Amino acid sequence: MPVSGRAQEQYDALVVGGGPSGAACAYWLASRGHRVLAVEKKRFPREKTCGDGLTPRAVRQLHDMGLEDRLAEFQRFDGLRSIAHDITLELAWPEHPDFPPFGYVARRRELDQMVADQAVKAGAVVWQGAEAVAPVVEGGLLAGAAVRRTDTGTTEAVRARYLVVADVHCRYHHPARYDELLTVRTRILEAKNRILKFGYELFRQSDSKLLATGDTTHVSCRRDGRVTHFPEKYKAAFLAIVSALPDRSTE
Ligand SMILES: Cc1cc2nc3c(=O)[nH]c(=O)nc-3n(C[C@H](O)[C@H](O)[C@H](O)COP(=O)(O)OP(=O)(O)OC[C@H]3O[C@@H](n4cnc5c(N)ncnc54)[C@H](O)[C@@H]3O)c2cc1C
Repeated sequence: MPVSGRAQEQYDALVVGGGPSGAACAYWLASRGHRVLAVEKKRFPREKTCGDGLTPRAVRQLHDMGLEDRLAEFQRFDGLRSIAHDITLELAWPEHPDFPPFGYVARRRELDQMVADQAVKAGAVVWQGAEAVAPVVEGGLLAGAAVRRTDTGTTEAVRARYLVVADVHCRYHHPARYDELLTVRTRILEAKNRILKFGYELFRQSDSKLLATGDTTHVSCRRDGRVTHFPEKYKAAFLAIVSALPDRSTE
């Protein structure tokens, strides 16, 4: 992976993914005085497949981030209507000591931008159009990530003391109803000495329609955070599973 130059700045935390979880993480770290960079591969406002419903717990999180007034502009709802097998249940949100008894419907193109903006106001740096493409490993330690700017195509190493991955790697192909039976097929796509990549496929059982695909990459680390090889017995098991794939186990 060619990486041009070294990171000009050192951050306390590099957050990969500027969705609500990554941006909220960046907000809280920055508001506690930490130097944070969040990288988001898309540009806001961006669409995201979602029901757009915010539960009372989510509302509480957003209120805690100072977004109470902004949220009040959205459609508020006081409970859930659940429909299945000709039965309809209407359930009011319960009274709770910590959470409000209401939710909101907020479009993700607005919500996500709102949370990211709040992170910036708290002092975080947010790069849009910036994709983390590979880990940066220095002296056996995970030291950050190689970040590619999508407009220029340049890649630079960003070093940070902590790396938070909030990237949810999922592609949605077709919608499904909540009461449909689904099958999740998990495969090992790649097994190296220190890295394992799983692939997921979500099928509707009734017609085997592919609904969504995703993948996760797992890096083997010791308790002190040092990247290390997988124990032999696990590696042997992983390699047996992926024997049909090209052998990249020595990389
Ligand atoms: C059909 C559907 C309906 C749903 N309805 C609801 C609902 O009504 N209410 C609810 O609470 N939840 C709902 N969810 C779940 C909700 O969408 C997720 O829980 C939520 O989006 C997770 O937030 P996140 O920040 O972790 O991930 P995301 O919102 O997926 O954000 C991840 C971000 O990371 C970025 N990214 C990925 N890879 C990289 C990279 N390498 N470098 C830089 N950036 C990267 C992506 O561009 C993305 O912006 C629904 C999900 C689906 C699929």
